[in-house]
Amino acid sequence: MTLVSPAAPSPGAPRSRYKKVLLKVSGEVLMGDTPYGIDMNTVDAVAREVAEIVALGVELCLVIGGGNIFRGLSGAAKGMERASADYMGMLATVMNALAVQNALERHGVETRVQSAIPMASVCEPYIRRRALRHLEKGRVVIFAAGTGNPFFTTDTAAALRAAEIGCDVLMKGTSVDGVYTADPKRDPNAVRYDRLTYLEVLAQDLKVMDASAISLMRENGIPIIVFSIRRPGALMDVLTGDGVHTVITEQPPTAT
Ligand code: UDP
Repeated sequence: MTLVSPAAPSPGAPRSRYKKVLLKVSGEVLMGDTPYGIDMNTVDAVAREVAEIVALGVELCLVIGGGNIFRGLSGAAKGMERASADYMGMLATVMNALAVQNALERHGVETRVQSAIPMASVCEPYIRRRALRHLEKGRVVIFAAGTGNPFFTTDTAAALRAAEIGCDVLMKGTSVDGVYTADPKRDPNAVRYDRLTYLEVLAQDLKVMDASAISLMRENGIPIIVFSIRRPGALMDVLTGDGVHTVITEQPPTAT
């Protein structure tokens, strides 16, 4: 397989609203319809969508969660020391990152994995300037092992990397198509928001991302878009300003 860096998008191709994007994919998305672990067909479907947007010339960073394999909190609930359980969770994100890297390269997208926990024979360590150089060269950079610290989540890792790398947007691809007034899987009356402010998310304690991730995005003025990456074509739609999603910014734009 020859790996290709994204060429200039062909004339008439859809245009992305954002140049540098951080896409966070929840671990649970990678389970597909299975109850646990990595469903390779789903990983492949996500990789195909990612390859399409890379072909638009978008500089893309990925942060993959680990909840499909292990969450620190569940380990701690079963009696493990929280910090050790969190390190296991971070290792789970590395497994997911390698699976996604593999699938992306099968779709011809050059990819580098950088881990916040050094593991020299598996992937690169996280080095900000090196990540920037990879992006300039059109490579997708997958940030693995979260922040490298226990007591955090991959949402916070995604916000941290988005700020460090200077991304124009943080997109959260989940299995739900936006932020709702309540959990739509449990409450049939839950309503989706089109737009929210960072403060509304924090004040209403809406289950979007941790408060630390929201605050970091607010301080850096980086919009957050929440969408369902399970719907085919959703990633491209959101990038080109279409589709169903929730946008979180400082001030919602005034209606025209
Ligand atoms: N984790 C951590 N520090 C980080 C990021 C992740 O300790 O900076 C651990 C934590 O135990 C978490 C697990 O890794 O539960 C998997 O990440 P997360 O729950 O954020 O995955 P997602 O919900 O996105 O699948």
